[in-house]
Amino acid sequence: MRLTRYGEPSSREIDALRQPPYCPVCGDDAPEYGDTCEIHDMTTTEHLQLIKAKCQELLAIWGNKRDHNPIYTATEGKRAEAGWRSTIAAIDGLEEMDDESHLYQFMESNILAAWPIELLQ
Ligand SMILES: [Zn+2]
Repeated sequence: MRLTRYGEPSSREIDALRQPPYCPVCGDDAPEYGDTCEIHDMTTTEHLQLIKAKCQELLAIWGNKRDHNPIYTATEGKRAEAGWRSTIAAIDGLEEMDDESHLYQFMESNILAAWPIELLQ
């Protein structure tokens, strides 16, 4: 075995190679090894609330742009607004429903599928 002066890594070198814990879904920092990040650790209820908040945020941004720039009165923008309002209504509607029902499960899974977490960041 050939020994060199730098044959063994220093503890500083080992620390530099050490990977901090990361989320296996998105790669962001995670609190512990094997954990997901805060966003990917959500319950479906939290995910739905995040979707609703995002739709409200987009409506506010959109409303602001629309008021200041006539280009945003285009039909396409109005369709996007209709989609956000419909999503908010559907999520509000879920709160009134029996979460064991078929319709609830159907709506919940379709809303979650339409709004993956990547669209909420
Ligand atoms: Zn993540």
